Amino acid sequence: MLDATPCPVCDGRDHAPFAAKNGHQIVRCAGCGFTFQSPLPRAEESTALYDDAYAGATEGYFAKVDKKMRRSRGRARRLRRLARGPAARFMDVGASGGFMMAAARESGFDATGIELDPKSVAYVRQHYPACPVFHGTVEAFLHDTPDAAASFDVIYCAEVIEHVPDVNAFVAAIARLMKPDGKLYLTTPDIGHWRRPRDIQHWDAFDPPAHCLYFDRPSLTRLLAKHGLRIVSRALALKPGLKVLVAKA
Ligand SMILES: [Zn+2]
Repeated sequence: MLDATPCPVCDGRDHAPFAAKNGHQIVRCAGCGFTFQSPLPRAEESTALYDDAYAGATEGYFAKVDKKMRRSRGRARRLRRLARGPAARFMDVGASGGFMMAAARESGFDATGIELDPKSVAYVRQHYPACPVFHGTVEAFLHDTPDAAASFDVIYCAEVIEHVPDVNAFVAAIARLMKPDGKLYLTTPDIGHWRRPRDIQHWDAFDPPAHCLYFDRPSLTRLLAKHGLRIVSRALALKPGLKVLVAKA
């Protein structure tokens, strides 16, 4: 099937139907095997999704704050070891309620965040006023803050990339924010994981249009390489997810 939406990984236009859900079609690229929604959501649709993603559920989403903070503190301590110097800069792309930013700050990072959802941004500003959060996309942050280029030691991006319609602009902007020796810690669902339910409809991460991109290790590796990035280590994930540490190639 020839499709107008180029594959975000290899730019190929030959795709085979893979599955459908919520009225959205998911295809697999004949060229590289990447699985994605076609057509991809437009950026405005994606922003609208974020606007109401937690509508009426904000309290629920930010329940268990103590548990979120404990987990964030453990991750922040491990990430702090990757950065040298007293004023290492940390960026959370998709900062949510600011828990990871707050934990990073406790670990001695100078922490900044980027978030699209206005309710989450309001939550961060109320609860963690010492943690600056930019309301918008990574690309808009770079445009508004050109001095931020090549200034971050550690970029944290957890369960965000699978939502992003223009993933090449997104990864390019992240790469530009990283110092030459900076690191990116990235997590996303793994469609190629051995524990992913065989029937894709039974997989909780199969959720178009919110999740419009479905990576496995080869497709994520190939996408990152296009932007001068490489996976340097990978954590064992018992749930179907990828957890990778990324550096400049
Ligand atoms: Zn492809």
